[in-house]
Amino acid sequence: MLVTLRELLTKADAGNYAVGAFNSPTLESARAAMEAAEELQAPVILSHAEVHNEIVPLEVMGPILVDFAKKASVPVAVHLDHGSHLEIVKQAIEIGFSSVMIDASQMSYEENVRTVKEVVQYAHQHGVSVEAELGVLTSSGIGGEETKGGNAIPLNEPEDYYTDPVLAKDFVERTGIDALAASFGTVHGIYITEPNLDFERLRSIYGNIQRPVVMHGGSGLSREDYVKAIRCGVRKINYYSYAAKAGAHAIKAYIDQTANLFYHDFTVVAKEAIKNDVKKAVEIFTLQGGANSEEGRI
Ligand SMILES: [Zn+2]
Repeated sequence: MLVTLRELLTKADAGNYAVGAFNSPTLESARAAMEAAEELQAPVILSHAEVHNEIVPLEVMGPILVDFAKKASVPVAVHLDHGSHLEIVKQAIEIGFSSVMIDASQMSYEENVRTVKEVVQYAHQHGVSVEAELGVLTSSGIGGEETKGGNAIPLNEPEDYYTDPVLAKDFVERTGIDALAASFGTVHGIYITEPNLDFERLRSIYGNIQRPVVMHGGSGLSREDYVKAIRCGVRKINYYSYAAKAGAHAIKAYIDQTANLFYHDFTVVAKEAIKNDVKKAVEIFTLQGGANSEEGRI
């Protein structure tokens, strides 16, 4: 069933777990996330990133995601990821999305507040949840292009771009958002160096805002890091790059082993590989609820 992000994350907060948000720029990735959630009977978030409009436009993929959510036996939020302006937010809401992210984190603080407030006003009138970002989430440069521009500037000191816990409280109070995307050491894309997360900062942010925290760049971390982050207040984990990589590697192996190649077979191979990767993520984020601290990268 289609539910709002607020509803999903309120339950996650009460149960001390996180819900995985999976970008779905192809039919295979959307089906993989949906089948994983159905098989595990776990809630899930299907996301469309604005920047993925270049792969498949929102007006093509959006209705499919909403339809999948409505027919699902598990709670599903359909979410716009990194929306850059009110017009695309309106478009997503018109299609039936139950959640939107407005990313004005590249603007000045006051501009960010003003932009987000405007989106919250519109979205809440339509019964739709809002996620916004404070601080800057950088990209490793390999994959992870779901944000537009901005991240090319080299930022040296974490203080330059990590989320300030005091400012976070002000931001949430003034904008009325339902969830906050915070920067505390994760990056978009494939990790080149070992991630080093600032859990103390995360704990302070969550304590100050009393709202669910969203982790972007959430694929490629160790199991231990996920568990710690969930214990510190992360309730939504954006997971994409490593699932997309798993799909690509499976296709490559299939091509290497198969004489007669047909494109439609690639989609089946990719869907299964993405589904298996997503299932591992959902098991850690949602079903184990942060209970298992066993090491292991997924
Ligand atoms: Zn992101």
